[in-house]
Amino acid sequence: NSFDEECDYLFKAVLIGDSAVGKSNILSRLSKNEFHLDSKPTIGVEFAYKNIRVGDKLIKAQIWDTAGQERFRAITSSYYRGALGALLVYDITRRATFENLKKWLYEVREFGSSDMVIILVGNKSDLSNSREVNVEDGQSLAQLEEIAFMEISAKENLNVEEAFHQMVRRIHEIN
Ligand code: GDP
Repeated sequence: NSFDEECDYLFKAVLIGDSAVGKSNILSRLSKNEFHLDSKPTIGVEFAYKNIRVGDKLIKAQIWDTAGQERFRAITSSYYRGALGALLVYDITRRATFENLKKWLYEVREFGSSDMVIILVGNKSDLSNSREVNVEDGQSLAQLEEIAFMEISAKENLNVEEAFHQMVRRIHEIN
C-alpha cells in the first residue's frame, strides 16, 4: 500500500515471555485491535505489522511472536536477529511467569543486540483480583535491569499502545 512507499523506517521487534502470558493477543491488539478469549487464534503466524507516527516520521514495526515455539524449545538467535526492540511479557496472575523473566533476560542478552530496547510488560492488569505479582515487584525488577516497565491489559486495551510507543520512541532516540 502507499504507506510502504512513504514509510521512513522499518524495524523489527519481538515479543518474548512464557507461554500464555498474552503475547499473541498483544500482537493482535497492536496490529488489528482484536482480542481473543481462547488461546492461539493463529498458530504459525510469526509476525504482524504496526504503523506508527513519531514526530514527523512514519515508522513501520514488524513485530514477531513466538507462535507457540516457547513451549517446545528455547528461542534462538534467528528470532532475535536484527531486532531493535523487545516486549518482555509476564502474567500478573501467575508468579512463575515473573520468576522466569530472569531466564528470558539472560536469553535476550545472549542472543539479542546489546542496544536492544527492552520494555517489561505485566499483562492482564484487568485481573487484579487474582494478582500474584505486585506492581512494586515489576517496578523493582525494571529498575534493577534498567529497563522501562508498564502493566497492561490486552483484553481491556489498557496501556498496550503506550508500552509499544515507549519502545518505539526509545528506539528512535538511540538509532
Ligand atoms: P501467548 O501464549 O503468550 O501468546 O498467550 P495468548 O495471547 O494466547 O493468551 C493466553 C490466554 O490469556 C488466552 O486465553 C487469552 O485470552 C488470555 N489473555 C491474554 N491477554 C489477556 C488480558 O490482558 N486479560 C485477560 N483477562 N486475559 C488475557
